[in-house]
Amino acid sequence: MSKVYLYDTTLRDGAQSEGISFSVVDKLHITEKLDDLGVSYIEGGWPGSNPKDAEFLQAASKLSLKKAKLAVFGSTRRVGMKAEDDNNLIMLVKTGVKIATIVAKSSILQVTQVLGTTPEENLKMISDSVQYLKANGMSVFVDAEHFFDGYKVDPAYSLRTLAAAADAGAECVILCDTNGGALVEEVARAAEAAYKAVKVALGIHVHNDGGLAVANSLAAVRAGVSQVQGTINGYGERCGNANLCTIIPALQLKMNIQCISDEQLSRLTDIARFVSETANLSPDPFAPYVGASAFSHKAGYHVDGLAKWEQAYQHVNPELIGNRKRAVISELSGKDNITFKARELGISLPSDKSMIQKLLTQIKQRESHGYQYEHAEASFELLLYRSLTDYRPPFELVDFMVLVETRRRAPVRNHLEDTLAEAMIKVRVGNEVIHTAAEGNGPVNALDQALRKALLQFYPHLAAVRLIDYKVRILEESTGTESQVRVFIESTDGDSEWRTVGSSVNIIEASWLALADAVEYWLTRKKLAVQ
Ligand SMILES: [Zn+2]
Repeated sequence: MSKVYLYDTTLRDGAQSEGISFSVVDKLHITEKLDDLGVSYIEGGWPGSNPKDAEFLQAASKLSLKKAKLAVFGSTRRVGMKAEDDNNLIMLVKTGVKIATIVAKSSILQVTQVLGTTPEENLKMISDSVQYLKANGMSVFVDAEHFFDGYKVDPAYSLRTLAAAADAGAECVILCDTNGGALVEEVARAAEAAYKAVKVALGIHVHNDGGLAVANSLAAVRAGVSQVQGTINGYGERCGNANLCTIIPALQLKMNIQCISDEQLSRLTDIARFVSETANLSPDPFAPYVGASAFSHKAGYHVDGLAKWEQAYQHVNPELIGNRKRAVISELSGKDNITFKARELGISLPSDKSMIQKLLTQIKQRESHGYQYEHAEASFELLLYRSLTDYRPPFELVDFMVLVETRRRAPVRNHLEDTLAEAMIKVRVGNEVIHTAAEGNGPVNALDQALRKALLQFYPHLAAVRLIDYKVRILEESTGTESQVRVFIESTDGDSEWRTVGSSVNIIEASWLALADAVEYWLTRKKLAVQ
C-alpha cells in the first residue's frame, strides 16, 4: 500500500466541538505538539470566519516547524462571482500560507437545494477557485463536501465534482462524509469508484455521527486514499471527527502503513492528554490506545495471565503508543494483582505468601467500608509501605478537633451569615509532638492548613504540595446523613499528581484520612521521612 499522509484539523474542525475554545496561545502549543507527532499538515483555521484564526495564522507562520506544513481553510467562490473578486479567496492568499483547503459541494442535492444554483455553475465554481489559488502560488486541496451522500443519489455528478477539482490543478481531493452517517461498505465502494475516476491523490474526511469514523477512514485507505484527515481525541462538531489517536496506531500497528516514526508514535498518549488538558476537557479514560484504562486489568485471572505472558490480555504493547498497562486494585483482585502492582511500583514485598494474603484481606475489608483504590493509587501504595516491617511514617496523628462557627450578620451585607472553621491538630514527628491550630474557609481547608503548619518546620519542601481536587461521594444514599462517605483528593507538587481516598461515616474524618494520605504519600516518596 502506498504512503499515507496525516492531515490534522483539530484547530479548525476540532475547535467546532461543543465546549472547546482554543486561545491563540493554545493553538500555537498544539501546533508544536502536532509537529512533534509528525503529522504532514496542520489546518490552522478559516481566516475569513474569525479574527482569532487570522491572528493565529500570522503567529504560526513564525514557528519553525520540523515537518508539518500549515494549511488554511476556506470555500469555493460564491455563485455568479469571479474568483478574483471573492473576498474569501483573496483572504486565503493574503495569509501567506502555502496550502489552501477549500470546501466544495459534491452532492447534487446540496447544489440545487442549499446552494440554489445549477450543477454546471457549481463545477465552474470549483475549477475557477482552484485555478485562482494556483495562479497565486498556493497548493490546493479540495474538500468534496457530502461526497458519500451525493454518491448515493447521483454518483456520476459527485465524481464530476472531483474531476473538476483535479483538472483545475488541485493536488488532492478529499472525500468527505460531512454528516457522518455513512456505513463502511458505502465508503469503500464510493472511494474505490473515486480512485478509478480521478488521477490526483485522494483524501478522506469523515465525521463520527454513526460511530464509524475510524472504520470509514481505514476503509478509504484500503480503497487507495492517501491523505487521512482527523482530529486529536476525535474532537469535532456533534459526535466528533475521525480520531487520529485511534487511526494512527491502527495504520501503523495493524495495517503496517508507516506514517510517523516509532519514536513519534510513542508520544501519542502524551499528546492526546496534552490536547485534552489544553481544551480543558478531562481525558477519556476509555479511549482506545491512549486512554488511562485502555490497558488496565481488573480481574485477577487476567493479571495472572499478564504476569506469565505480556500479550495474554492486550491487543498491542501499550508502550508503543506511550501508554502503560495497569493492574487495577479492587475487591475482585487476587494476590497476583498485589504482587504485580508492587513490582510495578518498585516495592519489594517479602516473599512470605501469608503476608500478601493479609494485605488482600485488609483491602477487601476496607473496600467493604467504602474505600476504593482503583482511582487512588497513592493510598494503595501507602498500604503496601505500611505492611513493610521497617516502614516509619513521616508523621502520625495524635488527635484533631475541628470547630465550625456560623455567625449571624447584620442584613446590610450580601451574606447573612459568615462561616468560620478552625482546626486544632496534634501530630507526632519522630519523638516530637507538635500542636498547631489554623483557620480556614471550611473544615477541610482548616485541617489542611493546620497539618501544613505542623509539618512545614520538618519538611519545608511540603510548601510545593497543594490540593487540586476534592470529591465527596455518599455511598448509601438511602440512609441520608448517616451514610458512609468516601472522599477522593487529588494533589500535586507541580510535577506530578496523585490521588488518595478516605472513607468514614463522618465526612470530616473521611476528608482527614484522604488528606493525611496525600501528605504521607508525598513525603514517603520523597524519602524525607525522619530516620
Ligand atoms: Zn468536517
